[in-house]
Amino acid sequence: MNIGNVFVEQQSNSLEPTVLANIRIVMVDTSHSGNIGAAARAMKTMGLNRLVLVTPKQFPSDEAIAMSSGATDVLEHAQVVDSLEQAVSDCGFVVGASARSRNLPWPLVNPREMAQQVLALPTNTNVAVVLGRERSGLTNEELARCHCHVNIPANPDYSSLNVAAAVQVLCYELRMSAQLATGEEKPLWGVEWDQPLASSAQLEGLFEHWQKLLVDIDFLDPTNPRTLMSKVRRLFLRAQPDEVEANILRGMLSHIDKQLRKP
Ligand code: SAH
Repeated sequence: MNIGNVFVEQQSNSLEPTVLANIRIVMVDTSHSGNIGAAARAMKTMGLNRLVLVTPKQFPSDEAIAMSSGATDVLEHAQVVDSLEQAVSDCGFVVGASARSRNLPWPLVNPREMAQQVLALPTNTNVAVVLGRERSGLTNEELARCHCHVNIPANPDYSSLNVAAAVQVLCYELRMSAQLATGEEKPLWGVEWDQPLASSAQLEGLFEHWQKLLVDIDFLDPTNPRTLMSKVRRLFLRAQPDEVEANILRGMLSHIDKQLRKP
């Protein structure tokens, strides 16, 4: 499956900020199909059209079509996938939207800061903005796949927005940033980067490799892993390695493996 290629067919209107075409909204385990339709509408009003649905309870559905209020093209092109992993594997930047703060602090931004960070990414970086279940949000494991978390500032006593309303707020900020961006906008790390960011799939391969090695050298106890791998993930995700850097790290791990296996 290659989500990126599928979307190439959907040429966006040339007057639209092209950066928005690289951003996908990912909805995880949505239980009310009306919310999917409302999210499609929210996206289309802001000029986004890539919707990825991870195991929705019901899709396609008449309720989604009704709630999309004419944004049926977004629904028709929506991708349905079996896992969050599939939804974000080719993304160089993954943002998780969360109403709650988690035990392990993770880089946290508000929607405006999120949009600014997205706009500063190297050109053509695929971006995913991930939203959680209506009842329980995103799991810790899902949030640990994200480079950063975005929280929509809200009434502390009543801070959980309807998921489609959250999509609207996030897409609005992305659109505002895209419209305001000028050629003078400062890119990430101050220069136009020479390598694409490592994809989510590449990073997952790296984390798996680390984990295996750490178990092999008895640094990580698989029966009592604690938060070690979450902290390793957080460190690497915060660094936003590019493809070459991620390959170097994989190469180092392979050589350590090889040395360990020498008699
Ligand atoms: N009861 C859930 C909230 C689910 S709301 C919980 O406590 O986590 C469904 C989704 O909408 C969330 O997973 C999140 O992606 C998004 N969302 C709702 N309110 C939000 C907020 N204030 N900031 C960021 N995302 C929010």
